[in-house]
Amino acid sequence: MAVPKIRVKLVTWDEVHGWAFRLARLVEESGWRPDVVVAIARGGYVPARLVCDILDVHDLLSVQVLHWGRAAEITAEAHVKYPVPVKLEGKRVLLIDDICDTGDSIIVAKKHLEERAAPAEIRTGVMQWISAVAKIKPDYYVEELRDWVWYQYPWCRVEDTTNFIEKIVGETGRKEWTRSELVEEFKEWYGIDVGEEVFEEAFKKLVERGVLVLKE
Ligand code: AMP
Repeated sequence: MAVPKIRVKLVTWDEVHGWAFRLARLVEESGWRPDVVVAIARGGYVPARLVCDILDVHDLLSVQVLHWGRAAEITAEAHVKYPVPVKLEGKRVLLIDDICDTGDSIIVAKKHLEERAAPAEIRTGVMQWISAVAKIKPDYYVEELRDWVWYQYPWCRVEDTTNFIEKIVGETGRKEWTRSELVEEFKEWYGIDVGEEVFEEAFKKLVERGVLVLKE
């Protein structure tokens, strides 16, 4: 089999749950307790919700930072989409994201919260920290990755698959495929299998957008 074009790890829901437990335990063991959890949207939503569940924190907010676009490519400078309209004076905030890659999302979200919400303290937590490339080290992290890899989390399987297939179509310059040809090509490029339901949903979106033509 050919070497995948980008390194991708297919993440399961069970792995996410396990990492959320470990992240929550790290916070607990540090002797620090957040009053509020802030998820960096969209990747931080699920881990933040799980950490709230495990630590019994009932205050959960989010701040959306735009940075990464289609198919594992950075498209814009990281920036906050909707300014946070609340004050968190006197509160201890745990800012959570799924993965710290460049670190820009966390840097931007933290600065934004400091300026707009003025909490007493902000600490940061992630499931994965790509130490090889990140500009910062989060206060809490479960896994340190020394090599860059795209973590394909289960909450964005359709979105990532759609983008990955679009990249295949774009780079090969070939618009017409049978389903099985495209599935095989996808597995070669990315080294993962996302299952029939996800493939079908991605195909549907790309056919509707006129990007892909499916042959029988
Ligand atoms: P960054 O600002 O580069 O630290 O990353 C911003 C967001 O993009 C992360 O919270 C993820 O949702 C997504 N992302 C960036 N890099 C990766 C990666 N290697 N694997 C999966 N998602 C990523």
